[in-house]
Amino acid sequence: MNEAWCERINPVVKNIPSSGIRRFFDMVAETRGVISLGVGEPDFVTPWHIREACIYSLEKGYTMYTSNSGLLELRCAIARDLAGSYGVTYDPRKEILVTVGVSQALDLALRALVSPGDEVLIPEPSYVSYAPTVMLAGGKVVPLPTTMEEGFSLHAHQVEAAITSRTKLLVLCYPNNPTGAVMSRENLQEIMEIVRAHDLIVISDEIYDKLTYEGQHTCVASLPGMKERTILLNGFSKSYAMTGWRIGYACGNPDFIAAMTKIHQYTMLCAPITAQMAALEALKNGRPAMERMIREYNRRRHVVIHAFKDMGLPCFEPRGAFYAFPEIRATGLSSEEFAEVLLQEEKVAVVPGNAFGSSGEGFVRCSYAASLEELGEALRRMAQFVRRLGVR
Ligand code: PLP
Repeated sequence: MNEAWCERINPVVKNIPSSGIRRFFDMVAETRGVISLGVGEPDFVTPWHIREACIYSLEKGYTMYTSNSGLLELRCAIARDLAGSYGVTYDPRKEILVTVGVSQALDLALRALVSPGDEVLIPEPSYVSYAPTVMLAGGKVVPLPTTMEEGFSLHAHQVEAAITSRTKLLVLCYPNNPTGAVMSRENLQEIMEIVRAHDLIVISDEIYDKLTYEGQHTCVASLPGMKERTILLNGFSKSYAMTGWRIGYACGNPDFIAAMTKIHQYTMLCAPITAQMAALEALKNGRPAMERMIREYNRRRHVVIHAFKDMGLPCFEPRGAFYAFPEIRATGLSSEEFAEVLLQEEKVAVVPGNAFGSSGEGFVRCSYAASLEELGEALRRMAQFVRRLGVR
């Protein structure tokens, strides 16, 4: 590290902790024969008809910028999909912005709304990008810890107790990464009463909405009085196995979307046109392939839940996304030690729970977006490891 250069780096950037997941990816890359349950990425290749739509778009010469907001046809398809799934209606011309993944939509939403010193409530354990993105936008992160005992659910009284005169936003993510928790409609409704009473805004990251295995997904914007004060984020990475295409979107009231588009038009211009064409095909004809993938994740989910029970590791039953979050305290190791030694001794990669905030300590995240064969072998190795540590 060169001190002279480091001094010139923006202190906000310097203060952001490095991603705990990235460090493990580097270790995994250096170790041979590893089975990775670390990555939050579908193991399926994007369905062929979607790839074909992209190839066809190139053959037809679709190689230009699109409108800053994204292809109108894609925005119309997004609006139809949301109206059909949740009964929430958005004007494709004013209330939808196509982005480079949910990641960019999140960044734009936070930069458009957060003023320096604004407080942003984030239930924990939480997806690794939320806190750093809030910090980059100049905001202050206020974590709201959730526990396995309470099904990793957030409660209205917790939200209320954390609100100050600087609170501006609540960031939600259900189905949840890393816990797999899904919130009941009643619980969300109670929280939204508090949100409305204190005039807060919600950023609801619903990237795993389609991957809900038990119960029904509740779209936060569809709850009474919530459409105007919610920025709904979603995308194609998880449900359609399209992580590398980088297409997401934000829906919200026209003023919020206009503010986000203002930043987008100078910093990104638009999402890549070929990927937008592929996303359009996914919405038009992608449901059967998506449902096949979801059925497969669900089969794996059962395998994983049973395996952790057999190992003697308490594990909250995930009801959505594709992660299990077993508690590893009985091994006597911290979550980082567990992940590190498991990788060294058994060549299985998992993510230490503390990467998702301090309330993730004592847990590890295992993605079941891996084939049943790989999953079976990884779980066998983990069981061996846990037994050696004296559990059961
Ligand atoms: N939001 C959550 C909760 C995620 O888990 C991820 C990826 O793991 C993202 C957003 C990033 O999505 P995208 O690929 O659309 O940028």
